Amino acid sequence: MVDFAPVGTTQQALIRLNIIPRDQHCISRKNISDGALKVMSRLRSGGYQAYLVGGAVRDLLLGGHPKDFDIATDATPEAVTDLFRNSRIIGRRFRIVHVRFGREIIEVTTFRGHHDSGEENQPETGGNHSRQSASGLLLRDNVYGTLEEDAARRDLTVNALYYDSGKFEVFDHVQGLQDLKDRSVRIIGDPEQRYTEDPVRMLRVVRFAAKLSFRINPETAAAIPRCAHLLGEIPAARLFDEFLKLFLAGYAAATLDKMLEFDLLRYLFPDTSRYIEQDEQSLALVKAAMGNTDLRIAQGKPVTPAFILAALLWPVVEAHFRRLEEQGEPPMPAMHSAGQIAIQDTVNHMSIPRRFSQPMREIWEFQLRLQRRTGRKAAELIEHRRFRAAYDFLLLREQAGESTGELGQWWTDLQELSPEQRLEKVAGSNDNRKRPKRTRTRRPNPAP
Ligand code: ATP
Ligand code: MG
Repeated sequence: MVDFAPVGTTQQALIRLNIIPRDQHCISRKNISDGALKVMSRLRSGGYQAYLVGGAVRDLLLGGHPKDFDIATDATPEAVTDLFRNSRIIGRRFRIVHVRFGREIIEVTTFRGHHDSGEENQPETGGNHSRQSASGLLLRDNVYGTLEEDAARRDLTVNALYYDSGKFEVFDHVQGLQDLKDRSVRIIGDPEQRYTEDPVRMLRVVRFAAKLSFRINPETAAAIPRCAHLLGEIPAARLFDEFLKLFLAGYAAATLDKMLEFDLLRYLFPDTSRYIEQDEQSLALVKAAMGNTDLRIAQGKPVTPAFILAALLWPVVEAHFRRLEEQGEPPMPAMHSAGQIAIQDTVNHMSIPRRFSQPMREIWEFQLRLQRRTGRKAAELIEHRRFRAAYDFLLLREQAGESTGELGQWWTDLQELSPEQRLEKVAGSNDNRKRPKRTRTRRPNPAP
């Protein structure tokens, strides 16, 4: 079953090719999308190598259903676009090709090589393929290479398995199959060096450990505290992309636990991470938001980053709100400014697109409007396009132990009435608890 072929130049002592034939693995072409099979077959007909790689092979071997299919090839991005009309090159730091089949996008990546290899195998991109910062961070990774080199530059051993859909074989250069069996997340190569090249790999380690319920290999884990500070160098937009993968993929609660275990949340949400260290209620709120999001995803319901971001930043917003109110600002302007400050502080290191920050602020400001229980205006709030999210958010605060004067139940009851009954209720409610007294314990201010 095993065919060893020594390969490689530089760091590759660990590279040994293990080829697993079709009768010794569980991958079937039936479970691979037609688009991915077409891309691989056309690349092969064009004289190129083409393999399914990454999460798809990993998830197929684990018996799951991949969410997308990535292909690795020795064809350059330009050669790939020549073969597929429905394709385009994207990315600059890391150029890949997107081939579109209806709604499905197949990502085609040219084998990456070592950064110390010469430029002779680097056609058509006009030089400047590889760039590294003074600290060793890879700023550009467009040096092409061989299949073996490509396997070695991937992040985790379980993400570096290749499937040949022509010969039905699985290629394993880094003992990924063994790690899959051992349910272990392990960085390929020297962890410290690989995190230094790309600190986002630390987030990927905790994400896959949470997603797959795998343990983390001890060396892979031990280097994280030494390298975590390097996450401060990651561009804000890339951190936001990573945030989406961490918390909007159906396993946010488990991911949060791992992020806290390795003290990585602070690189995405520094203020929040200080509050949740000191205040149980803040932690409960964030955990409740993660749990609810996972549940909604499992039930096939839509989720928005705005809601989970609103929850993650709520402890910060609330502290600013309280401070501004104490300084004499009326509630609504205070909430408006508090939201603005919390968002501004966050986007300094992790971007939040306006299409999400705007609804976040509306959810926060709505928390004040929901305190009003009298008058026609109160009844009309139910019709507001942001009501549902704001009401869910109120329930979440209560779920986390925040005392709101049973406001959630009041709005739940109101929604069950007809429009006429609602008007009666808000007219009749002789409610002097417009702004429920805060009975919750004060949150400590975050350490500077
Ligand atoms: P998912 O199920 O989340 O899509 P995935 O493993 O396919 O998981 P992608 O982000 O789609 O993850 O990346 C595809 C593959 O590219 C990975 O499996 C891995 O081999 C490689 N890869 C992605 N990001 C990195 C990185 N930062 N460093 C090295 N290799 C990476
Ligand atoms: Mg993928």
